[in-house]
Amino acid sequence: MLANFVQATYIVAGVLFIFALAGLAKFETSKRGNAFGILGMVLAVGATITAVWAPESWRGADWADQMPSFVGKGGVVPLVLLIVAMLIGAVIGLFKATRVEMTGMPQLIAQLHSFVGLAAVLIGLNVFIETRQELLAGHQIESVGFHLAEIWIGVFIGAVTFTGSIVAWGKLAEKISSKPLTLPGRNWINLITGVGIIASGVWFQNSHSWFPLIVLTLLSLFLGFHLVAAIGGADMPVVISMLNSYSGFAAAFSGFALGMNVLIITGALVGASGAILSYIMCKAMNRSFISVILGGFGTTAAATSEGPAGEIQEVKADELASWLADARSVMITPGYGMAVAQAQYPVAELTKRLTEAGVQVRFAIHPVAGRLPGHMNVLLAEARVPYDIVYEMDEVNDEFDETDVVLVIGANDTVNPTAMEPGTPISGMPVLHVWEAKKVVVFKRSMKPGYAGVENPLFFLDNTYMLFGDAKASVDSINSALPAAEARPAIGA
Ligand code: NDP
Repeated sequence: MLANFVQATYIVAGVLFIFALAGLAKFETSKRGNAFGILGMVLAVGATITAVWAPESWRGADWADQMPSFVGKGGVVPLVLLIVAMLIGAVIGLFKATRVEMTGMPQLIAQLHSFVGLAAVLIGLNVFIETRQELLAGHQIESVGFHLAEIWIGVFIGAVTFTGSIVAWGKLAEKISSKPLTLPGRNWINLITGVGIIASGVWFQNSHSWFPLIVLTLLSLFLGFHLVAAIGGADMPVVISMLNSYSGFAAAFSGFALGMNVLIITGALVGASGAILSYIMCKAMNRSFISVILGGFGTTAAATSEGPAGEIQEVKADELASWLADARSVMITPGYGMAVAQAQYPVAELTKRLTEAGVQVRFAIHPVAGRLPGHMNVLLAEARVPYDIVYEMDEVNDEFDETDVVLVIGANDTVNPTAMEPGTPISGMPVLHVWEAKKVVVFKRSMKPGYAGVENPLFFLDNTYMLFGDAKASVDSINSALPAAEARPAIGA
């Protein structure tokens, strides 16, 4: 009876996780989606605590058949251990989550993926301790081959996720160079490592011994490191999303090994949604999905430090304010610098004032602007910029030639025309065609290149003007200088 109750709670939690994903797909419903996710997790954790603690007398005859293998004999000791572990995790999680800036989210996500990967490896090794004891004692284990495959596949994906996520974290946090590591014959190294992993898996399956499992774990740890180390910084967004997917599949295989439905459902949801997101991002960046999975891209060219040189034109905030007041249409393309400067609030204020004065203001969002997918959308929503003037790149990329002024606020790689030529780390990535507008104003603090380290010829074009300084201070100055314009008829009226 209690076993049925626990299993039913897991199913309800799984359904709530599906509702959570559905809710998170749109801004309007994202808070509700989060609430479903939290409720699902509370139910799943509550059911697991109940299962771990439930004394013998509460457990029916069907208990052993229905419960995950980690549920032991019950009682206070495992309960206390579980709660202590949860408290330690909760304190670290709260500490991290309350301090992280939006710009530091990718690093935090990479760290969290590494925990999932490590957990999957430890679960796999632990389940094998139990399985081996049973086998040595001569007990029959139902579908033993299938069970061992669950263990080694879970350990393999977990180990790749663990080291891959640590390297991704190191690159994003600038602890290690973001340049791709190009060892000679690196594709051969990957191939031989992959063959070694499969061979160890087959050997493990047949020998039921520790040695091949340890070899497989070490090879997988190396493969995760090498796959991600070979990828350049500009392609990190796709890598983070791939690792997200891997962490989900690692959790799902842990769920199979433990016989825990809720972990299988959750892992599959995370794995599948991460894979879909990676695919969408690959399309947005014009990368091949397969070569991402194999860690084989981002190496076509090293970051260039030499680039176009020439005369630049500067503009000051008060002059720009008068251009904006006279414009009929303005497009804003935000990037990482807007996030660093926390300029979204004055940008929202500027948008409101220009719109009230009859200027058509729209936002053009590049799919990888900022440092994580959806970064810009979240910041603009936080500052209460209306959703209906925020457009995806493809929706407005043909409309720059009808735009009077484009404000490039803290963006660089995503507006770099060099991407349309071969031979650079961003070649092939679709970019916002801001240079087609009548005037382009770039907000930044210096002439330094963007994240991918590629010089940007946009800055030297005849219709481009640089507004140097912190983006928040610059937009504040524009807001102060903006004349209290009379509203004029709406465009098209
Ligand atoms: P970039 O990193 O290319 O450029 C940001 C610009 O902002 C820089 O030129 C910088 O110039 C400027 N900047 C920084 N701080 C400030 C400030 N306080 N005030 C004003 N300007 C500032 O950003 P994009 O958004 O255009 O491109 C994103 C890049 O990041 C892409 O290469 C993408 O692949 C990569 N990436 C994206 C991820 C994602 O998931 N979205 C994840 C990881 C990487 P200066 O220093 O001179 O001020």
